[in-house]
This record gives sequence, structure tokens and C-alpha cells, in this order.
Amino acid sequence: MLISMAPLLKDAREKGYGIAAPGIYDLQTAAAALSAAAELKSPIILDVYQNNDLEAIGDIVRFLSSRFESVPFALNLDHGESFEVTVRAIRAGFSSVMIDCSTKPFAENVALTSEVVKMAHAVGVSVEAELGHVGSGARYEEDRDKGLTDPAEAVEFVRQTGVDCLAVAVGTAHGKYAGTPRIDFERLAKLREVVPAPLVLHGGSSTGDENLSKAVRQGITKVNLFTDLVFAGALGIKTALSSGKDLPLPALYAAGVTGYKDMLKHYIELFGSAGKA
Ligand SMILES: [Zn+2]
Repeated sequence: MLISMAPLLKDAREKGYGIAAPGIYDLQTAAAALSAAAELKSPIILDVYQNNDLEAIGDIVRFLSSRFESVPFALNLDHGESFEVTVRAIRAGFSSVMIDCSTKPFAENVALTSEVVKMAHAVGVSVEAELGHVGSGARYEEDRDKGLTDPAEAVEFVRQTGVDCLAVAVGTAHGKYAGTPRIDFERLAKLREVVPAPLVLHGGSSTGDENLSKAVRQGITKVNLFTDLVFAGALGIKTALSSGKDLPLPALYAAGVTGYKDMLKHYIELFGSAGKA
């Protein structure tokens, strides 16, 4: 059942579990994510990066939603960088959008986020925004401390924009880390205490199970995952290729999808959302 992100995150926040948000980009990854959620009776959020074919993915997910009626899930635009792309996603059938102006000054971030919230809420679509900035793992040591989210600013941001959830920077980064991830749990606890909206953690991959489960316990309700899933998929294909069997393309795709799906199931269990659908 395709629904907006708001009720999913509300339940997760109240009950203290986290929802996995795998990055999907085609029929195989969307079906893998939904079947992982179905098997574990878990809610899930399908995140789609803005540079993908949003219209094609909207159609694919609409088709799949009839096959996975038992799964409460949202289809969310990831890192939408303009008003226009959020409108496109909503027309394509997305139930949620992220508007990311996290590299802009506070007032500009508030202004564009508020516009998107007004438009999206008019048609029952939820909105994620980002305050502070989650950077790239490749530049982790240089960038980690630059964009950490300020709790007082976060309270003001949520009050002024009315966003449904907020991505915060507490020491994670996108992609693989050049260095060891250090999560600012004190900052996270403070954010959870003062910010009235559910909190989102970007850059879940390679952050480590212990860090992630602690982050969920301390108030993160959505964890974005991409790198770990697609590399687990790639490993599945490599393993199939090195088996010595002469495998055709469908078998290799299947091995890749299994790798992606098994890694996702691991995270669903870790975040405590299994059985919550
Ligand atoms: Zn992100």
C-alpha cells in the first residue's frame, strides 16, 4: 500500500524503531526492496535519487504496489534540488519528496522548503528537508565537522517550514568513508529531545551496525541506504561469476538482486521494524 511518509514515520517515532530507506532505481531494486519488506512484515521507504527517470519509476512502483498490498510503503524523491523536480515527482506518483537546500543559507533553505511544503501538502504528499549538511564520505576528514546540525536552528527550521521530517548531520557521510565514522550521539540526543519532527539519517552505508542501531535507539526514524546495498549486489554477481558455471544474464541479475535484498533484510532487522507492518 503506497502511502505518504508522515504516518510511517509517526508510528516509528512513537514506537522507537527505524525504517530503512533503500535507494532504488529500477524494477529489480524496487521489487527486491518491497519483497524484503513483505517477507519481514516491515514498513519501508523507497528512495529515488532525482537524476533517475522519475516517470518510469512512478509507473513501475504503481504496478508493484498492487503486488505488495500488505506492505505499507512510501515512494520518496531523494535530494530534490529544485521546486520543479519535486512537482515532477509528485506528478509521477511519488507519495513523498525531499527538497534539499542544505548547502544554501538558512533563510533560503526555509524559503524554498516552505514553498514545497505548501504545494506538496495540498495533495497529501509529505516532505523531507535537510538542515546542516551531510557531505561525501570521500572527503570525510575535511568535511565532517563543517555541516553538523545545530539543534536550536533545527527547531526554528521545523517551526517555520512545517516539514514532515528532517535530515540531520550528526557525523555520517554519503558513500564509503575515507576514515572512521564518528557519530555525535550527544548532538543526536539533543536533536531528538527538542525537534518535534521525525529525524532522518543520510549516509547509513558503512557507518557500522553498532552506530546505526544506537542512532535508531537515540531517535533516528529513517535511515537512508544505497552504497552497501549496491555493493552487496555487485558482490553477488562476482560470486556467481567465480562459481565456474557458465551463467546467462538473467542468472547474474538474479544473483545481484539477491545480494541487494539480503543486505537490506539485515538492516530492516537491525532497525527493529520487522513485524511492525
Ligand atoms: Zn542523502
